[in-house]
Amino acid sequence: MSWSRSGSSTGESVDLRTEVPHSARIYDYLLGGRDNFAVDRDAAAEIVRAVPHMRTSMRANREFMCRATRFLAERGFRQFLDIGTGLPTSPNLHEVAQDVAPESRVLYVDNDPIVLAHARALLTSAPEGRTAYVDADLRDAGEILESAEFAEVFDLDQPVALSLIAILQFLPDEAEALGVVRRLLDALPSGSALALSTVTADSAPGVTDSGVAAYRSSGINTKARTAAEVTAFFDGLDLVDPGVVLVHRWHPDEAEEIPDEQIYMYGAVGIKP
Ligand code: SAH
Repeated sequence: MSWSRSGSSTGESVDLRTEVPHSARIYDYLLGGRDNFAVDRDAAAEIVRAVPHMRTSMRANREFMCRATRFLAERGFRQFLDIGTGLPTSPNLHEVAQDVAPESRVLYVDNDPIVLAHARALLTSAPEGRTAYVDADLRDAGEILESAEFAEVFDLDQPVALSLIAILQFLPDEAEALGVVRRLLDALPSGSALALSTVTADSAPGVTDSGVAAYRSSGINTKARTAAEVTAFFDGLDLVDPGVVLVHRWHPDEAEEIPDEQIYMYGAVGIKP
């Protein structure tokens, strides 16, 4: 096993900011996890009041992450850059990739101190592979690309799969979000992939709008995007079929029929020519 992290680490003092709700802990709570505090549970309750099927949508998002990762691993991807990792929820991305190919290397990035505190749990790589963690903000692509871990984990002669799963809704500024995605993809070689999911209001306009309002009232700025706005993140890439769709409709495993209006996330995968 090989692991590393930057920033402060478990055992050192980490300010968990338990008095303000945090997106990673709200998500953890809604997925049934235990790494959350009263403020997060209160915020989650308000969100579920506004959006009754929030848990269904979040689970479908997590399953999309697993299917997209498996899809890429089965097509030969062995390097994964996952920004907006979230709290450990099995299976984590490296477990999915290493189940296909144990030599897979995964660099996790998140800006939440609780995710940092759990980095060890994310770093249990298969011995043939590698996992590492960087404590950084998506908005600071340079910090991620210039980190020691990025250089150590990735061989840039080989394609890298960039995962931005359920994070871009927290970057409401369109120019900033597009710029960050572009900057990251520019640093990756031809043949690299972008796997992305983010919030939309297209499937249930009124419901998602009140969900976005509930997040905002908890102090978490959030944006729902249209299919066209999500497609713009894939400009210059070859979109894998079926393109930008609600996450449960992207290469579904089984015929579990979830009504579209219960899913508030678009997902897609694209390949850099
Ligand atoms: N990708 C996981 C978790 C999504 S929750 C999944 O889909 O299951 C969103 C994650 O993004 C949280 O862990 C949160 O801490 C992180 N995050 C939000 N804004 C961020 C930013 N600007 N930079 C880095 N991480 C961020």
